[in-house]
Amino acid sequence: MGSILDSEIMYLPGVGPKRAELLQKELGIYTFSDLLYFYPFRYIDRSKIHKISEITDDLPYVQVVGRVVNISEAGAGRNRRLTALVTDGTGSMELVWFQGVTWVMKRLKPNVDYLIFGKATRFGTRFSIAHPEMDIYNPQQDFITGTLQPVYSTTEKLKSNHISSKTIMAFVQALIPMVIGKISETLPPSIIEQNKLMTLPEALRNIHFPQNTILLHRAQHRLKFEEHFYIQLSILSRQKVRQVKVNGHIFSHVGEMFNRFYHERLPFPLTEAQKRVIKEIRRDMMSGKQMNRLLQGDVGSGKTVVALMCMLLAVDNGYQACIMAPTEILANQHYESITSLLGDLPVKVGLLTGSTRRSERNNLHQSLEAGELNILIGTHALLEDVVKFKNLGFVVIDEQQRFGVMQRAKLWEKNSDPPHVLVMTATPIPRTLAMTLYGDLEVSVIDELPPGRKPVKTLHYTDAKRNVVFSLMREQIKKGRQVYVVYPLIKESEKLENLKDLEDGYESIVRAFPPPEYVTVVVHGQMKPEDKDYSMNLFAQGKAHIMVATTVIEVGVNVPNATVMVIESAERFGLSQLHQLRGRVGRGADESYCILVSQVKLTKESRKRLETMVTTNDGFKIAEVDLQLRGPGDIAGTMQSGMPFDLKMANLATDGQLIQHVRQIVIEILDHDPLLENPRHTILKDQLNKLEFHRSDYTGIS
Ligand code: ADP
Ligand code: MG
Repeated sequence: MGSILDSEIMYLPGVGPKRAELLQKELGIYTFSDLLYFYPFRYIDRSKIHKISEITDDLPYVQVVGRVVNISEAGAGRNRRLTALVTDGTGSMELVWFQGVTWVMKRLKPNVDYLIFGKATRFGTRFSIAHPEMDIYNPQQDFITGTLQPVYSTTEKLKSNHISSKTIMAFVQALIPMVIGKISETLPPSIIEQNKLMTLPEALRNIHFPQNTILLHRAQHRLKFEEHFYIQLSILSRQKVRQVKVNGHIFSHVGEMFNRFYHERLPFPLTEAQKRVIKEIRRDMMSGKQMNRLLQGDVGSGKTVVALMCMLLAVDNGYQACIMAPTEILANQHYESITSLLGDLPVKVGLLTGSTRRSERNNLHQSLEAGELNILIGTHALLEDVVKFKNLGFVVIDEQQRFGVMQRAKLWEKNSDPPHVLVMTATPIPRTLAMTLYGDLEVSVIDELPPGRKPVKTLHYTDAKRNVVFSLMREQIKKGRQVYVVYPLIKESEKLENLKDLEDGYESIVRAFPPPEYVTVVVHGQMKPEDKDYSMNLFAQGKAHIMVATTVIEVGVNVPNATVMVIESAERFGLSQLHQLRGRVGRGADESYCILVSQVKLTKESRKRLETMVTTNDGFKIAEVDLQLRGPGDIAGTMQSGMPFDLKMANLATDGQLIQHVRQIVIEILDHDPLLENPRHTILKDQLNKLEFHRSDYTGIS
């Protein structure tokens, strides 16, 4: 809208069309505004000037003021290099260039003081800096000394086109005076005052060129605050809008299917925790408001039966229900356990996944629209527009952290009044994540395992102790138990190599456990479904002693007689995955074991992961350690798609207190003005629209 901030980046002095194209392609910088919001990823303290005699090996960077006293050129062609000897009165060092030799030679002036900056490396008795940053030293007006210098991320492509961090810094230096007066504030004055925040222009200036660390921290705080603020506002205002404008379907009575299931089919008494959770959900379903609830319960805590009983409530009240699972295997598993739990009850259940045949699919679509199908189980395929319900009243998302706020919104659209939504997760979610990713959900917790379960014993062995592992396996098999041996599947691209690990592993297992005395099956993701089913069935029926598998079994198997889970190359698994895998054993009443096998040499992180597994079975503790170890970057990767918008400064792993604080502020605002109609809040509404528009623009999710 004609703001200078929307100007194309090529019009910034010093940029031009060629560099603009590179900035767009490599860094996603299209406009002045994009550059303004392209924050440095770290800062170098340039206030310290080192004496050459004081330089040591362990300094990450050095900055000296010195004169060039000798220049020499050596080699030719690709081996050509230029060396300059520099002294500052306390000692001397070398500067070396391997590229741009002619260019540098022309410019280097003797007997002039330079400010020289770079990483010093020792060669014999002398230090040397390759490709130093150099400026003629001017103590009076040198803006750099006494400040923190921003470092921007660049790419190889940019560097080879002479766009370095320093070049970007120069662009930003040119930009800031042009735009600083045109940046409009994005938070209301009252919030800025009450929280003693920097204004936006001040924060943006200081995030690029902080005068000192105090100002830098204040700038970072302001920008973080704002990001969290709008995430909370987005999540909570959607929730308010739903509460104010949306009618919840009312499931007023407990009917035949629920009762018959409870009295005729339920194979075990419910745990107290399961009963409590069902009550909480029922209360929501009768409230007249749309339910959005998160059900947390550790692996094996019995979430499926809770989901099923709530679906039966929906069916009894004339509604349809569905379960959406993150993988096909898990959808199949749900289908099987739910149809077998229902037995001969007249409830019609369908399964829809990516591999459902076309004809079958058409049938499903029709009976769904006609209202003949009561419960639909499936994968993302459920989200497709062609999947239409007659009267969807209740949705279960079994998600394991793969969906987020934005994906949930898609399911609300499946009925004119959105259905009740229950999100189930087996990986306990640390509080800070819960407040952002699930900030619009009420929470229920199943904090009790079905009776008779013994906690799984976890042991860690190195490769060399494989014999100990084998003898434990033998002992258990002798007692009539079964064993899983799992190999990691790290990346799609490593599939082949990974299969080789699996095959080698299989061979060594068969050597140690020879047929016909022992039966070993293999299961991995690249097998034909028939073969996979065949192997899984052999194991499930107790006809195989050992299942060698990739993480395929992470979600798909329930064999109470299996008491040993051996995880090979355990150092290569993430914590939550290890925890999930461990949950596959300990489902019967017998003592169970999880055996982590790793190499001897471990990184600090993988050691911490394995230690955590050995010392605790508590899913919440594991989730907290996981969040700390993985840090925000990784989490952003897996979670970003579920967030209302991207995070630049905010850090979900460490901003817990700030998130809590900001959330409270947002709640108070919305309590007084749920739809943000007060003119004082126009600024909030506008900014929210802008951010959400931007988001949908780039991801196409909403
Ligand atoms: P999860 O919460 O991991 O999805 P499941 O719903 O798969 O757990 O339940 C794990 C196992 O525990 C299943 O075999 C299920 O039949 C059984 N189970 C669930 N609730 C109970 C209970 N109250 N008593 C005994 N077994 C139960
Ligand atoms: Mg489950």
